[in-house]
Amino acid sequence: TGILYVVGTPIGNLQDFSPRAREVLANVDLIAAEDTRHTKKLLSAFQFSTPLTSYHEHNEQSKGKFLIQQLLEGKSIALVSDAGMPGISDPGEVVIREAVEEGITVVPIPGPNAALTALVASGLVPQPFLFLGFFPRDKKDRRKELKKWATMPVTLISYEAPHRLVDLLSDAMDAWGDRQVAIARELTKKHEEWLRGSISECLSYIKENGVRGEYVCIFEGADESEFNQAHPAWWADLEVIEHVE
Ligand code: SAM
Repeated sequence: TGILYVVGTPIGNLQDFSPRAREVLANVDLIAAEDTRHTKKLLSAFQFSTPLTSYHEHNEQSKGKFLIQQLLEGKSIALVSDAGMPGISDPGEVVIREAVEEGITVVPIPGPNAALTALVASGLVPQPFLFLGFFPRDKKDRRKELKKWATMPVTLISYEAPHRLVDLLSDAMDAWGDRQVAIARELTKKHEEWLRGSISECLSYIKENGVRGEYVCIFEGADESEFNQAHPAWWADLEVIEHVE
């Protein structure tokens, strides 16, 4: 059988495209891309002419079956998304799981990822962290999801579209209190910019200066004491473990 490569591509800066990723994209039989037009531009920048096929959230099931078939017939395939690592708030999960179930070799080719890139320079506690991706668009669902993580004593990472950033920050402040946040804009690009401070400070800056580009938010977690108060049974279990040891 062939190999399924899961290939990271740049999140803005073409120089972050690794030589290994380029070599794989130049040499596989087929590239499964979230948006073939987008990936075609990336390939032509490097003069590659590997065949492309689309693999996105609306054809994940049907196209996944086709890709698995090709892999079983011995073809090598590279899976890419528009930016960053496939499967991370991007298509990929379904075909990767099926490949694993079929015993097909899956080889990750690491590349940029917006969440980790933002986390490491946030100045907040880097671990443990919880990656939440995008919150639901619907206000009620979003507030419920925010509430769900309110007592987690871990750093929280979320993506957000520019036109929903103010709503996310306002709802996060309601659900979590006025915590520290680091907001990374346009990572690796010419207009990379950082906002660090309390949620309310960042909100007023953003309301004054507007939003443009792509954003990652890194939020401080809850205090451990909040978690323990909210989950007394969990805490009691831990005490028992300590006692036994
Ligand atoms: N697969 C990608 C990854 O590994 O990071 C994420 C894809 S997701 C559809 C796109 C979101 O990632 C954007 O809305 C934004 O929140 C974040 N993002 C991607 N590139 C970014 C960048 N250069 N600067 C800041 N955020 C970025």
